[in-house]
Amino acid sequence: MLGLMQDRPLLITTIMEYAALYHSDCEVVTNAVEGGIHRITYGEVAKRSAALAHALTRLGISQGDCVSTMAWNSHRHLELYLAVPCMGSILNTVNPRLFPEQIIYILEHSEAKVLFVDITFVPQIEELAYKISAVEKIVIMTDRDHMPETSLDNVLCYEDLIATEGDQFDWPELDENTAAGLCYTSGTTGDPKGALYSHRSTVLHCYGSCSKDSLGVSKADVLFPIVPMFHVNAWGTPYHAVMTGSKLVLPGADMTGENFYNMIKDEGCTIALGVPTIWLALLQYVETLDTQDFTKLPIENFIIGGSAAAASLIENLEKTFGATVVHAWGMTETSPLGSVNRPMAKNAHLSDAEKMAIKVKQGRPPFGVEMKIVDDDGGELPRNGIAFGRLMVKGPWVAKAYFKQPDLNILDDEGYFDTGDVSTLDPDGYMTIVDRSKDVIKSGGEWISSIELENVALGQPDVAEAAVIGIAHPKWQERPLLIIVSKSGTAPTRKDILDFLDGKIAKWWTPDDVVFIEEMPHTATGKTQKRDLRDMFKDYSFPE
Ligand code: ADP
Repeated sequence: MLGLMQDRPLLITTIMEYAALYHSDCEVVTNAVEGGIHRITYGEVAKRSAALAHALTRLGISQGDCVSTMAWNSHRHLELYLAVPCMGSILNTVNPRLFPEQIIYILEHSEAKVLFVDITFVPQIEELAYKISAVEKIVIMTDRDHMPETSLDNVLCYEDLIATEGDQFDWPELDENTAAGLCYTSGTTGDPKGALYSHRSTVLHCYGSCSKDSLGVSKADVLFPIVPMFHVNAWGTPYHAVMTGSKLVLPGADMTGENFYNMIKDEGCTIALGVPTIWLALLQYVETLDTQDFTKLPIENFIIGGSAAAASLIENLEKTFGATVVHAWGMTETSPLGSVNRPMAKNAHLSDAEKMAIKVKQGRPPFGVEMKIVDDDGGELPRNGIAFGRLMVKGPWVAKAYFKQPDLNILDDEGYFDTGDVSTLDPDGYMTIVDRSKDVIKSGGEWISSIELENVALGQPDVAEAAVIGIAHPKWQERPLLIIVSKSGTAPTRKDILDFLDGKIAKWWTPDDVVFIEEMPHTATGKTQKRDLRDMFKDYSFPE
C-alpha cells in the first residue's frame, strides 16, 4: 500500500520561489569583479533570474541544453545558478584554473551553447575561443560601462541581455530527476569526468548540508563561501543560502587574506568555507595588523575541506578568532558533502588534546550518505579506527555514472562509488582520510600516510606548507621524502624538522630526507599538486 501524502517534486525552483516569498529582503553582498561592494536582495535576484531565463530562451536555450560559466562568486553567478536549472537547462561551471586543454575538453564535451564569463577571464577565453566549436554566444558578466575591448565574436553584455526582459517567468514543473548542474573533476588522470547533478540530488544535498550536525546553515547566519562557485557548486552553498535565507557574502575575484578579513568584519560573516590554503592567507594577513584581538569578530565556524585540515591550522584559527573549525570531506562526485566533523555530547568531558585528536578526522557522514571501507578484493573492513581501505560511498547525492559515459560502471555490486581515498572508520562513525590511494607510500609491505606526516610537520612553527611523496628505495620499495615551504623570514634546517617529528610519529615513518622549496605547486582546486612534486623529484635519490 502506498502512503497518501502529496508527491511534490524536489526542485531548485521551489527553493528559489520559497526565498522570493520568505527571504525577499535578505541581502547578497558581492565584492564586485568590477570593484566596489554590490548589494542586492534575494527578492531582486529571483526577479533578475526570471529575466535571465527569458533572455536565455530568446538565445535559443531550451530544456536539456547546457549553459557554461567561467566566473567568480558573485550575484550574477547566483542568478545563473537559479535561472538555468529552473528553466530545465543544465548549468556547467568551469574552473578557470584548469589547463587550457581541459577547459576546451569540458566546453566541447558539455556542448554548451552559451558561455558566461567574468571580465577577468575574457583574455583566457580569447586564447581558446577558436577551439571551442559548440559555443554560439559569449556573455560577459558585467554592465555596459565595464564591457572590455575584445577580439571575441558573438559577445553580449549581461546587463543589456536582461535589461528589457520581464521579471516573472513561468517556470516549468520539471521531473525532480531532471539534470540541473554539471561539474567536472579536475582529471588528474585522463580527461575530466562530469558529475551530473539533478534537482532532486541538489535539494536533498541542501537538506543534508544545512542540518546542525552538518554545515549548520540557518536564517540567523551570514554565509561566506570563499570556496569558488566554479568548483563543485561552492560546496552547494549558493543553494543552502537561498533555501535557509542566510545572508550571502561573496568574495568576487579578490582571493587575498585582506579581502577575506574585511568581508568577515564588515558584513558580519558567521560561517566561512574554504580549502586550507585560504585560511593560511587569512592568518598571514591578520598577523600584519596592529590589532591582535580578533575574537570579537562575529565568525562562529570555519568550515574546512578539499584537503586535510592539520591540527596546527585548526588550533591557530580557533585561537585567533575564538571560532570553531569544522572539518569536512567530500568530492565532486558526492555533490560534494560526504562527511562533517561535529562533536558528540558523550565526548564533552574530554581534554582539549583528546578533542583535537577527534577534530582532525574528516567527520561522520550526514544522514543520506552511506560509507564503508573495503580491501582490494572488495571485502568490507572493520569499523575499528585502525583498519584502513578504499572508502566507498553511496546515497541520493552521490554519482552513479559520469556524463556521457554510459558504459563505464563506477559502482560496486552493492551500489557504492569508489572515492579513490583510503580511510579508516572508527566505532563512532568518524572517518579519517589516510591518503589518496595513489599517494600512499608503500614501505616494506606497510603503508605510510602522507597526510598524517604532513599534518605533524605543519605543527613545526617555521613550516608554511608540507608535502610528503614516496621515493623509490632499493630495499623498502618506497620511502617518504618530506618537502617543506618555510614561513617567510624563517630558515629551518633538516635537523630542526626531524627533531620536531621525533616522538610524534612512529620511528619507521620518519622521512628519509627533508628538502626545502620556494613554492608549493597547487592543483586547480587548491590541493598540493603531488604529480608536479613527483616530476620535480624524479631524479632524486636519498642521501647515503
Ligand atoms: P578535484 O579532485 O577536482 O580537486 P574534488 O573536490 O572532487 O576535486 O576532490 C576530492 C578529493 O579531495 C577527495 O577525494 C579527497 O582526496 C580530497 N579531500 C577532500 N576533502 C578532504 C579532507 N577534508 N581531507 C583530506 N582530503 C580531502
